[in-house]
Amino acid sequence: MTSDGRAVSRACENEKRTKSCLTSAPGIMILGATGSVGSQAADVAQKRGYDVRAVSANRNSKAVEDLCRLFRPEAAAMADEGAAADLKVRVADIGTKVYSGSDGLTEMIRSVSADTVVNAVSGAAGLAPTLAAMESGMRLALANKESLVIAGDAVMSEARRTGTEIIPVDSEHSAIFQCLKSGGDGEARELILTASGGPFFGMKRAELGSITPERALDHPVWKMGAEITVDSATLMNKGFEVIEASKLFGMPGGSISVLVHRQGVVHSLVRFADNSYIAQMSKPDMRLCVEYAVDYPHRTFPVIDRLDLTSVGPITFEKPDTETFVPLSLAYHALKAGGALPAVLHAANSAAVSAFLKKNIGFTGIFDILEKTVARFTDSASCSELPDILSAAAEAERYAASLAAGK
Ligand code: NDP
Ligand code: MG
Repeated sequence: MTSDGRAVSRACENEKRTKSCLTSAPGIMILGATGSVGSQAADVAQKRGYDVRAVSANRNSKAVEDLCRLFRPEAAAMADEGAAADLKVRVADIGTKVYSGSDGLTEMIRSVSADTVVNAVSGAAGLAPTLAAMESGMRLALANKESLVIAGDAVMSEARRTGTEIIPVDSEHSAIFQCLKSGGDGEARELILTASGGPFFGMKRAELGSITPERALDHPVWKMGAEITVDSATLMNKGFEVIEASKLFGMPGGSISVLVHRQGVVHSLVRFADNSYIAQMSKPDMRLCVEYAVDYPHRTFPVIDRLDLTSVGPITFEKPDTETFVPLSLAYHALKAGGALPAVLHAANSAAVSAFLKKNIGFTGIFDILEKTVARFTDSASCSELPDILSAAAEAERYAASLAAGK
């Protein structure tokens, strides 16, 4: 069958699945099930009665055992081999098949059948599960933004080839996905990502020098994993989200804006050709995003409480300070330059944030490392093949780590 034929037949399968979701519980896999998004996905699954067929994590075998006892999935995978051996012993009495290592994780995705894969793995490790889920023809509920930052072109071209539905779970992208439903193809003119501004909104670069990891980990709106919380404080997360939105929705960086919105109730907006803005609002709660991605296009069950509009107060939008929070400007630059540069920026950031969390560098040390690494790897913008992109990123991560170590 041609790739177009495959996409059409996959679209028919998607339609059948949507109909069957109305009458029976969707079957799902939760990857990264012990993390912030993953455990909220597990909570949604419990409340909605989804049929959880597989779960995965890296090392936390005790929490995966608890999930196996709760959901009785067919399979579980631990990326860490020692943790997989431990899990095997823990779940021996309930018959869950345990897969081991990162290859075991992708093997599990290919072997277990489900309607939707919720990919809530953190970091670059989420890319291989994204690609495996697309091969298997399941819907992809994608929280792992790194898949699109590192390999956005490859992921989107694989989605077209296989006819995979990618429904974003990242709250801004879920909001934009929902807003886009109110216009026709090609009618959106601007995607507006909202940002909390992070805990250091309003501060200048000189004042940021003394920020400790403890302060950076205290996010005003969302409770998230450590790396993404620091990324929210530097606005790197918003920068990655600009790249993520560009790849997902096929819009250039020039049509994607960021506005600081401190109240955290407007999750993003789309401006259409007629200059009408459509926004999505709710309490800030990732469980809505997971539920929407699994149940799409249906909205039947209130997993979260309603937002009391009269208690919100004034709703404000402000321009971000991209001169201070350079990671956001660097993301626009990397998106425009293309090739491996977004992956290089991501890799440099992983190394820098890890050094910051270990207190080896200060908060603005992250900015210095990003600027130097992006400048050093400018030529990588000409890479187009995924293996070359991944090897440029690996080299950039080593370079950034050496800068952090002061070498
Ligand atoms: P967490 O750090 O809380 O959780 C990460 C999960 O991935 C854990 O289950 C962890 O297992 C697993 N994991 C870590 N490393 C590996 C690996 N090498 N192989 C396989 N599994 C691994 O992250 P978050 O839940 O905060 O974020 C997950 C993704 O969702 C990220 O891409 C993030 O950017 C995105 N996102 C998160 C939001 C949030 O509110 N947290 C909002 C929007 C997007 P273990 O517990 O064993 O370490
Ligand atoms: Mg987000």
